[in-house]
Amino acid sequence: MNSTQSCPECGTDWQDGVTCTDHFHQMLFWENEYPEYTYQVHHYLVLCYHLQHPSLYSREMLPGAVRLLGDFLRGVSTEAARSSSRDVLDSGKRDWKITGTPESHGEYEHPVRWTMTAADITADSVENYEHNVRLWAQTTYDTLQASGNAAS
Ligand SMILES: [Zn+2]
Repeated sequence: MNSTQSCPECGTDWQDGVTCTDHFHQMLFWENEYPEYTYQVHHYLVLCYHLQHPSLYSREMLPGAVRLLGDFLRGVSTEAARSSSRDVLDSGKRDWKITGTPESHGEYEHPVRWTMTAADITADSVENYEHNVRLWAQTTYDTLQASGNAAS
């Protein structure tokens, strides 16, 4: 019997029991250990991981997070965006206003099939991390637009 589970949110196969949370923690570990490869794309990591697991956000926060990713990709600086959207980016913050609960959490209006997920980043080397996370950010936003979940 095939017992491989897949993520109910982003659809990634959890090979050998390694879950998306494990991939996220691996990336945070890399960010601690190898800042030279990672510091420029931390905001993309936080946004992409949460956008592909939208129940982590509250219903109110999800559309703002989609917009913020689009802003970053269009070149809005993280400093400018942070001052207006600090809560969306602060992954350590656990505030009822930004964090989803089992009863009320973010979900997309239209179904989404991601072309790239957290597992694709950790499958490659840390030297390619910045490149891969930038690609992840672009494909995540493109997928949201193509599926009708992001206003263009
Ligand atoms: Zn997942």
